[in-house]
Amino acid sequence: CGIVGYVGSKAAYPILIEGLRRLEYRGYDSAGVALWSKDNLQVFKKEGKVAALEELVGGQQPLANIGIGHTRWATHGEPCDRNAHPHVSNDGSIAMIHNGIIENYAQLKGELEKKGYTFKSDTDSEVLVNFITDIRANNECPLEEAVRIALKRITGAYVILLIDQSLPDTIIAARKGSPLVIGIGENEHFLGSDASPMLAYTKDVVYINDYEMVIVRPDELILKNHTNENLTPYVQRLDLDL
Ligand code: GLU
Repeated sequence: CGIVGYVGSKAAYPILIEGLRRLEYRGYDSAGVALWSKDNLQVFKKEGKVAALEELVGGQQPLANIGIGHTRWATHGEPCDRNAHPHVSNDGSIAMIHNGIIENYAQLKGELEKKGYTFKSDTDSEVLVNFITDIRANNECPLEEAVRIALKRITGAYVILLIDQSLPDTIIAARKGSPLVIGIGENEHFLGSDASPMLAYTKDVVYINDYEMVIVRPDELILKNHTNENLTPYVQRLDLDL
């Protein structure tokens, strides 16, 4: 029930873990992170508290400057390691975290299974990440376009964050019905369910609205609506302390 993301030049893993701790109050049953480390996608996920995730990672802290993290409040599939987020697409190219519910996931899952897709989890979220990669493969379009097309075909509520092997410095995020805040640092950006994961680093934030999508790189924040028009981000300076 919380999401966090980082792109910049700092070590992403400690920022994600600290961010997930700050979101603990939202409640959750599992936690996980995905990071790009030297062209390798590393995913760690674990049922239980953030401390259990840290124990799993142990000394193998990934050296990465981009990553996403999630705390799950199970809606589809029991709380267990396999159902924890992030979920990775069948082709291994995309890792995605999702807060919310994809209401028409069963129908989409049936369509994907007919095409040969397999699923490791019982979640609605793993269906969405494969639906997105399938659209990208069929249309030979950029990931952000595939995300936009996919979101038009799903019903439900979501905030999603994706990292993609072919875009090593980018997080793509979108929301409808679940909260998403972007923190603006110097050549770095933070993403969170609320501002608490980023307050130690920046007070400049942009609250994302429903049906908006962001493409976030260390030095760039692109905000679009669901019809692909560019919007000007409204940056607010928070008067909050940790
Ligand atoms: N529906 C998803 C699941 O059950 C996401 C739940 C959440 O918001 O954490 O895995």
